[in-house]
Amino acid sequence: MKKIFAANWKLFKTPKETREFFAQFKEVANKATGELVFFPSAISLEAASTSLTGTTIKWGAQNCYFQASGAFTGENSAQVVKELGGSYVLIGHSERRKIFGETDALIAEKVAFTQGLGLTPMLCIGETLEEREASHTFRVLETQLYLGLAKADKTKPVVIAYEPVWAIGTGKVATPEQVAETHTDVFNILSKLGFAQSPILYGGSVKPDNAAGLIKQPHVNGFLVGGASLEVKSFSEIAAV
Ligand code: PEP
Repeated sequence: MKKIFAANWKLFKTPKETREFFAQFKEVANKATGELVFFPSAISLEAASTSLTGTTIKWGAQNCYFQASGAFTGENSAQVVKELGGSYVLIGHSERRKIFGETDALIAEKVAFTQGLGLTPMLCIGETLEEREASHTFRVLETQLYLGLAKADKTKPVVIAYEPVWAIGTGKVATPEQVAETHTDVFNILSKLGFAQSPILYGGSVKPDNAAGLIKQPHVNGFLVGGASLEVKSFSEIAAV
């Protein structure tokens, strides 16, 4: 399966900074060993679109609503992402779940809506530290996948990003053993639900010095990278593993 290296820029990088990043990144993008996907913040999407036209680098939004237009003040339209030439939408990131109160039911609507537009949803799942310590990881991931994919079309692409909440932005990366065990669980759950073909990315404090050990683990088909994707050097090193 082709690897995917995805960059979640969160609420960083203005349109100017986005253009500057891609001007440099395009010079080293050919070192990547898989598909590259960038998730800039919404107001920088057009800058990404313009910068990446004519390249094989993909991009998408960090969130969208599950209707193309209407009285939904402040939301992002997946239709606009499509019109600008985007390919992906990140859905259900733990920051959206925790800070913005997104539920599995809402996430399921977004997954189905983006697929319907021909975009690829990248569905994020992951357990908190309390859930892992209470040995509830499998149950949490199974529930998030079962509910998040409840309305998804099995014949259309969907990418899964397994991101343990305790490893996001904390510098505490999951060990290769934890990643191997959990990705195998995620693969088995996906197989049971009819999504065995979906790539499974790992996310949570991936850095150039831990990427090589993690990518070797079973059912790790790439990474979703936050902090280390903001610098050309660190992200291009990760994408070259
Ligand atoms: C993320 O935001 O999805 C993420 C994995 O962040 P970080 O790499 O900084 O932990």
